[in-house]
Amino acid sequence: MGNRISVASPKSEVHYLNRIKRFPNLVVMAEEDSDEEGFSYFESDAFAKRYSPNGSMIKDKFLSMSFKNMIRMIRIFSKYIKPIMSGRDKGFKDIEDYVLELEKTGHLSNHKNSLLKTCPNNELWKELSEYAWDKWKINIGFTEVPSQLIFKGKAILFKYAIVCIQEMDKEKIDLAPDIAAGEEVQRIYSSLGIAVNDIAQWLRQKYNVRCQANHPLGGLVSTSPLAAKAGMGWQGHNGLLITPQYGQRHRIAPIFIEDLLFEFTDNNDHVWIEKFCKTCRKCERACPMQAIYTEKQPRIKDVPGIGQTRTCIDRIKCYPQFNKTLGCSICVKVCPFSKGNDSYSKLKHITNKKV
Ligand code: SF4
Ligand code: SF4
Repeated sequence: MGNRISVASPKSEVHYLNRIKRFPNLVVMAEEDSDEEGFSYFESDAFAKRYSPNGSMIKDKFLSMSFKNMIRMIRIFSKYIKPIMSGRDKGFKDIEDYVLELEKTGHLSNHKNSLLKTCPNNELWKELSEYAWDKWKINIGFTEVPSQLIFKGKAILFKYAIVCIQEMDKEKIDLAPDIAAGEEVQRIYSSLGIAVNDIAQWLRQKYNVRCQANHPLGGLVSTSPLAAKAGMGWQGHNGLLITPQYGQRHRIAPIFIEDLLFEFTDNNDHVWIEKFCKTCRKCERACPMQAIYTEKQPRIKDVPGIGQTRTCIDRIKCYPQFNKTLGCSICVKVCPFSKGNDSYSKLKHITNKKV
């Protein structure tokens, strides 16, 4: 990574990683061949030299647009930058006690949560699902995090994850690539970041569950394959998760928890989507940057619950468009699953009939 200071690299995350990486046997570390997180990659000196004409993400964003859009962008930026940045920081501040305990004692105390006596705790799962939905309109799943899905050079405190998905509004995403769609992307980054911090706090205060919320923007793990492992959908041709409820119109964030409190929601119900994508390819045709690979590039082998991971997008091509529109979303918009209603079941029916 380069030395530039960016809005995309909160100091709280860097500080957290420097501290917990001193305990590699007590935390869950990324693998050598894990994927590099997007922002780390975009902040590298190599990227800045070759692909950032103005030398930084922010300059690129503002210097590559009309005056009218620049004003709109500044308004959206000022509205969401603060809650997004404070949401990212809060996730790390809220786990300060765990990190301090690690530093002071060299381990995390063996706290036996009484909830473990009734594991899997279906009642708590129901209460948690209702809390997440009623307060935040969030769907949840539960799975174990494969270390291969932790971004290169990063680490998490706990190996299980409650995976949280929040919908992006269809009317707004349908305006893509207008900045109105980008604003919706930023709104859900902000809202979901606040929500996972709140749900984690609820679990800590009400049930003494040790947990670590992680923001949907940037973050410590690759969330699309993680949510696919949790049985919440499957990755489409462009690599984004397709869910039965919203297609690709959503954002994802995890809450890592210490104990195996719930039944895993892992399943293979949505793998058929891969077959549908082979005959669709609308996202690939619609991408203005030709960033979606026709043939995905094999990446990491044998990820539990996922199998082979694949690189679907050329980030160098996607990034300038994503950056100047605050989230592009053209591929999300054109995906037939993103129509909502019962598009998932209709497309499944069509695909099954073709067998
Ligand atoms: S976000 Fe936009 S530029 Fe990136 S792959 Fe999708 S359509 Fe292409
Ligand atoms: S647009 Fe078509 S090919 Fe692309 S992810 Fe959606 S269903 Fe798959």
